[in-house]
Amino acid sequence: MKKRALVTGASRGIGAATARALAADGWEVNINYFQSEAQALALGRELGARVFRADVADAGQVQAMFDDMGPVELLVNNAGIAWGGLITDMTEAEWDRIFAVNVGGIFHCVKCALPHMIHIKHGIIINTSSVLMKAGGSCEAAYTATKGAVEGLTRSLARELGPSGIRVNAVAPGCIETDMLKSFTREELDATAEQAALGRNGGPEDVARVTALLASDACQFVTGAIVPADGGLIL
Ligand code: NAP
Repeated sequence: MKKRALVTGASRGIGAATARALAADGWEVNINYFQSEAQALALGRELGARVFRADVADAGQVQAMFDDMGPVELLVNNAGIAWGGLITDMTEAEWDRIFAVNVGGIFHCVKCALPHMIHIKHGIIINTSSVLMKAGGSCEAAYTATKGAVEGLTRSLARELGPSGIRVNAVAPGCIETDMLKSFTREELDATAEQAALGRNGGPEDVARVTALLASDACQFVTGAIVPADGGLIL
């Protein structure tokens, strides 16, 4: 029987590339999306994967998704949103929402995935941080703070769940040219590329390959790690 995976936020960008990479590695992939239904359904057809709509920030919707989908052995917490601007311009609602999606989403999915993983004493959880967690980001303070929480969750859950045979790691993407960066100009993106040791920004596949590696048996002794996929942007 194929091992089952859920990738959250897999309708577009890094999540969609991750779903493709895991399917290529033999995983039975389940696709979660929130708003981009047409893209999620198209990817589902491409991969022969089941597709589930759920706002990961909503515990009830996540529970309903798991009830419908069934258990998974691999959970990739990729869904995330950004917010750019001065902290003084951010509303309470915007602050609450970014934490609800980027951190609360992981909490909800982990809670639903764990009973099966603990029962079989095996499981893999891969969260998504950001290079900004180390670098800091002007006008991205709240987003960066959520990624700090993601890294704390990752290390703590690695310790809490290691005795149950569950590995918990995170990937920390650098500048990856997806919709998330569409507010940046070409010139700004090129300037960031110049700062990377490899002299370029990444594509979604550059992150997906790292996540697939973390999910593989090659990494069966790796847990609590925050693995950069940033072309040497932060060294
Ligand atoms: P993206 O292109 O904007 O895609 C975001 C994905 O998350 C979409 O599939 C979206 O689904 C999903 N999503 C958003 N809110 C959701 C919610 N409430 N419930 C379920 N799904 C939700 O972003 P990306 O660049 O691929 O980013 C993916 C992850 O990498 C995020 O965690 C992001 O913080 C992280 N990251 C990205 C970069 C970068 O440079 N791009 C760098 C560092 C870290 P719908 O469209 O269906 O709503």
